[in-house]
Amino acid sequence: MEIGYDEPLKAYNTFGFEAHHKGIIRVTDEGMINEVIEQKLSPIKILGGGSNILINNDIDAYILKNEIKGIHIVSEDDTDIVVKVGAGEYWHSLVMWSLSHGLAGLENLSLIPGSVGAAPMQNIGAYGVEQDLAFDSLEAIHLLTGTKKIFMKDECHFGYRDSIFKNELKDQYFITHVSYQLKKKNYTLHIEYGAIREVLQSKKIDSPTIHDVSEAVIEIRKSKLPDPKYIGNAGSFFKNPVISASKYKLLKGQFSDLPSYPIDDDHVKVPAGWLIEKAGWKGHNQGHVGVHHLQSLVLVHFGHGTGAEIKGLALQIQSKVKDIFGIDIVPEVNFW
Ligand code: FAD
Ligand code: NAP
Repeated sequence: MEIGYDEPLKAYNTFGFEAHHKGIIRVTDEGMINEVIEQKLSPIKILGGGSNILINNDIDAYILKNEIKGIHIVSEDDTDIVVKVGAGEYWHSLVMWSLSHGLAGLENLSLIPGSVGAAPMQNIGAYGVEQDLAFDSLEAIHLLTGTKKIFMKDECHFGYRDSIFKNELKDQYFITHVSYQLKKKNYTLHIEYGAIREVLQSKKIDSPTIHDVSEAVIEIRKSKLPDPKYIGNAGSFFKNPVISASKYKLLKGQFSDLPSYPIDDDHVKVPAGWLIEKAGWKGHNQGHVGVHHLQSLVLVHFGHGTGAEIKGLALQIQSKVKDIFGIDIVPEVNFW
């Protein structure tokens, strides 16, 4: 087992920040996790593609970089296929694999960066679909005991950009494999998000296929989101807040253009990007960091900056949004 004591971290997080650490270990199979535990290398941090972390300190831990690969069909019937996927597979590769096999379920989640193992962590979602819709189960290894556990869907407590692994079980398990149940037929397409409908209409596609939906999502994402290859970012920095219907009514009186999406009879979701833009932050530059000019929910690193600068900017934005709207916006990104 090799330990990269001096290996730079910059290339392994999409913000592009550097930090000291105790060593980076590339984990290519489950046995290596047990080896790390036996050698008492601790504490441990688990790294996938680094597309949802903000490094704002040196890291007093060994970093296990997940590189467990493989996509295997474990069961199949007339309508469904269950695939077990190595958690170090690139998420978008799994989506492309499913499309190439004509399997539905992941098409709306095209082009999300990062690894399969991190997908259940925050129950990744986009364009009206979250990964739990296709999730079957996952395998994980406890980082203290080395014991393997299978988590079924109801044990993962999936929510909006949330799961048990971001809360009660934070930093306790290494997710090694995730299984998804994908559909051969009898599936519903999710094309209710305005942007998807617009792209399909512009292409005069009345009866879209899973491929059409995936291509539409890829087109929209490429047109709006900064590519971390060129400009450091971790996607949406904040979650969309959910507020009470009464609070929404009050705000709507003040801000007639305030968008909203109903959650239930008593709650609505308000786009955090709109709040940030309305508070005057869209396109704001502050030294080495800033707010993206096309998408206010994305904080960006122009180079030569630090995670602390992003954290500082995020705090200013949170405070301004609270002052104007009385709403707390909460980071989606994991602080390291
Ligand atoms: P990392 O950033 O490496 O890790 C994230 C957290 O998960 C860390 O706390 C880490 O310790 C933990 N973790 C990672 N792997 C494991 C494992 N195997 N076992 C246990 N813990 C683990 N997210 C969305 O939900 N929807 C989007 O549409 C979306 N779009 C994005 C667009 C851009 C341009 C970017 C940069 C990010 C976007 N994201 C989106 C955020 C991000 O891509 C996802 O959260 C992704 O799942 C993170 O994967 P990762 O492998 O990079 O995780
Ligand atoms: P958008 O289309 O500009 O819409 C802004 C927000 O409104 C979205 O965040 C979305 O909430 C919500 N929304 C829009 N249409 C909706 C509908 N029909 N029903 C319910 N909610 C609706 O959003 P965007 O920023 O370009 O992102 C598009 C999708 O990709 C979103 O689902 C977003 O979550 C996802 N995305 C996520 C990240 C990330 O890092 N997490 C980064 C980029 C894009 P939801 O976010 O709850 O869907």
